[in-house]
Amino acid sequence: MITVNGLIRTYGEFTAVDNVSFEIGQGEIVGLLGHNGAGKTTIMKMLTGFLEPTDGRITIDGLDIDRDREAIQKKIGYLPENCPVYPEMTVIDYLDYAAALHDVPETERLSRVREAIRKTELTEKATQPINTLSRGYRQRVGVAQALLHHPDILILDEPTNGLDPSQVQHMRDLIKEAAQEATVILSTHILQEVQAVCDRVIIIRAGQKVLDATMEELRSAHRLLVTVDGDPDRVDSALKGVGDIRSVERLPGDGGRQSYALAFRNREEVERSAPAVASALLEQGCALYAMQPEERSLESVFLEAANR
Ligand code: ATP
Repeated sequence: MITVNGLIRTYGEFTAVDNVSFEIGQGEIVGLLGHNGAGKTTIMKMLTGFLEPTDGRITIDGLDIDRDREAIQKKIGYLPENCPVYPEMTVIDYLDYAAALHDVPETERLSRVREAIRKTELTEKATQPINTLSRGYRQRVGVAQALLHHPDILILDEPTNGLDPSQVQHMRDLIKEAAQEATVILSTHILQEVQAVCDRVIIIRAGQKVLDATMEELRSAHRLLVTVDGDPDRVDSALKGVGDIRSVERLPGDGGRQSYALAFRNREEVERSAPAVASALLEQGCALYAMQPEERSLESVFLEAANR
């Protein structure tokens, strides 16, 4: 649905986005994760047609951002990093104005504004001038304007930036609800944000894509952890008989039972080989006390990819 190919953006000599490619399917919630200055905002501005790529191609539902920018923008709801809400307008007046900008037909505007206010729980604040709202509520107004025209794609730049914990929770719920009807791309430098709402993460470092994986792939390592009580030579010969094992690491133990990490090529091999490992160990007279696929912490994956 969204295809980004060889995207490059330079500012003078400086390359802010460096040959980034990815595809995002309908209904996915994808987090663009990276440190400050990694290039997330620049990518989002290009996806929304507000910034021209230096090179590369962006297509959305077969439309090309170069040729069909307006048609693409109609499909997108965008919460920019600093959403330009007009401070002196009331919430309801601003949203009515934003609906007009989004080409919502006049006859539908009021109901769309009401709906966006309800979804973002802004009812109590609807008649207040925006400059009297807290940052969290202003951020909700930003999301409300992005939802008004029922976009197929929501692009949210740092949606929880500067919010307090309860506002963060509300924003996450809002994003998940919006994701039932739209593809969502959000940017953040907070790993927990991605963990809480996304089903896939793209890590950007110094303008380059350094990792693109589903949350499940990220969590699952390619190792099987087993704990046995048995002679190490017997364990060794048992494991040698299981074809797919690439390497065996003896983990620090407490002297009695011994744990081993068995490396495989991928998660499927881990799952497929587990019964063979168990029977090979039992055949060699080793008592098997525990067996589980290794789980990786997202923190370690992020630190590895973002700082490499
Ligand atoms: P943050 O999390 O701080 O918002 P980001 O990942 O969104 O960071 P970008 O705003 O995309 O990062 O910026 C990427 C790099 O491009 C940064 O080094 C930034 O200073 C640089 N940059 C962005 N806009 C411009 C500009 N108009 N002129 C020159 N450099 C720019």
